[in-house]
Amino acid sequence: MRRITVIGGGVVGLTSALFLAREGFNVTLVESGRLFSGASGANLGILSYSLGLVDGLDPSLLRRALSTHKKLAEELGHSIKVSEIVVPLTQAKAIIRELTRGIAAVFRAKYGFKRVEKLGLSLVVDDTLLIDPLEYRDSLVRRIGELGVNVIENNGVEKLVGRGSRITEAILSNGSVIESDIYVLAAGPWSDEILRPQGIELGVESLKGYTILARVDENIDRVIGVDPVFMRPHQHRDDIVMIGGYKKPSGLDLEIDEKDIETMLDTAVKVGVKPLEVLEVRVGLRPCLEEPVTRIIKYDNLIVSTGHCRHGMLLAPQAADEIVRLARSM
Ligand SMILES: Cc1cc2nc3c(=O)[nH]c(=O)nc-3n(C[C@H](O)[C@H](O)[C@H](O)COP(=O)(O)OP(=O)(O)OC[C@H]3O[C@@H](n4cnc5c(N)ncnc54)[C@H](O)[C@@H]3O)c2cc1C
Repeated sequence: MRRITVIGGGVVGLTSALFLAREGFNVTLVESGRLFSGASGANLGILSYSLGLVDGLDPSLLRRALSTHKKLAEELGHSIKVSEIVVPLTQAKAIIRELTRGIAAVFRAKYGFKRVEKLGLSLVVDDTLLIDPLEYRDSLVRRIGELGVNVIENNGVEKLVGRGSRITEAILSNGSVIESDIYVLAAGPWSDEILRPQGIELGVESLKGYTILARVDENIDRVIGVDPVFMRPHQHRDDIVMIGGYKKPSGLDLEIDEKDIETMLDTAVKVGVKPLEVLEVRVGLRPCLEEPVTRIIKYDNLIVSTGHCRHGMLLAPQAADEIVRLARSM
C-alpha cells in the first residue's frame, strides 16, 4: 500500500485524504492546529455556480464541483440546501464592479431580475447550494476514521527534507519524522512558507475575511449579496444569520479588526438584516493566486494544491479528484 502524507487539514487536505483513502492509499493527514482551523472553518459554505462564473471559472468545472458535492452529501449524510443569491439593486454601487467584470458570465448563468420582498428590485441567481463547513468536516472525519486514515493534529510540518522537490521525509514540530512515498501539500496561505526551502515560490496572496454568527429576530430565507459581504441563513438554526465575506490583503495576520466587523454589520442593516447579538466571529485567510482557481502542481513526489481563493469549499472535491489522478500516475 503506498503511503501518502497530506499536509494541511483544511477542506482541500481533508477532502483529498478521503478521496485518496478510498483509492486504497495509506494516508496520514497532518495539521498544525485543529482540522478546519484556517479559512475552511471560517467560511460561509456558499457553493455558487454564478459567483464562480463571475470569477472566470470554467462552467463545466463548476457543474462537476456541484454535482460531486451533492453525491458526497448523499454518501456521507451531511446536509445541503438549495438556495439562491439575491443582489438588491438598491446596493448596485457596491456590486457594479462585480457586474461589469462578470457581466457576460452573469448573463450565461440562470438569473433574473425580480422584485423581492423587503429588498426591492434585485438580481436573482438560483443555482446555489449551501453547506455548513463544520458539518462537512465532521462527516468527512467520520468517514476517514472508518477508512483508517491516520490524523495528526496540533503538530504541523516544520520542514520538508529531500533533494529539491523529491521529498524523503517530513519533520513535525514535535520532532517526529514521517516517511512517505508521496506528499500532498494543502496548507492554503502557508504553502509558500513550507515550500521555501525547496526553492519553490507560488506567490500565494492572503485575503482576510470573517464570518459573523449573529442572533436575529427575523431570519432570511436565501443568500443576500452586497459584495464583499454576503448574508446567509444558518444551516440548522432559524435564529442565526451568517454574515460573511470581506476582503482584506493581510499576509498571514489573523487579527480581528473591530472596524471591519462594524462595517459588515452596517452592511447587513442596510439590507434589512438586523443582528441582535454577535455570537461568534470566525476569521480566515483565503489563499489567492492571480486566477481564483485551484492550482495543482506536481513536482517529483510532491503535489501542491492551493489558490482557490473564495471558492475553496466549492472546488475542494475537484481538487481532490485531480490529486488522486496525479497520485495514481506517480
Ligand atoms: C470569510 C470567508 C468566506 C468564504 N466563503 C466561501 C464560500 O462561501 N464558498 C467557498 O467555496 N469558499 C469560501 N471561502 C474560501 C474558502 O474558505 C477557502 O478557499 C478554503 O477554505 C481554503 O481551503 P484550504 O484547505 O486550501 O486552506 P485552509 O483552510 O487555510 O487550510 C490549510 C490548513 O493548513 C494548516 N497548516 C498550515 N501550516 C501547516 C503546517 N506547517 N503543517 C500542517 N498544517 C499546516 C492550517 O492550519 C490550515 O488548517 C471563504 C473564505 C473566507 C475567509
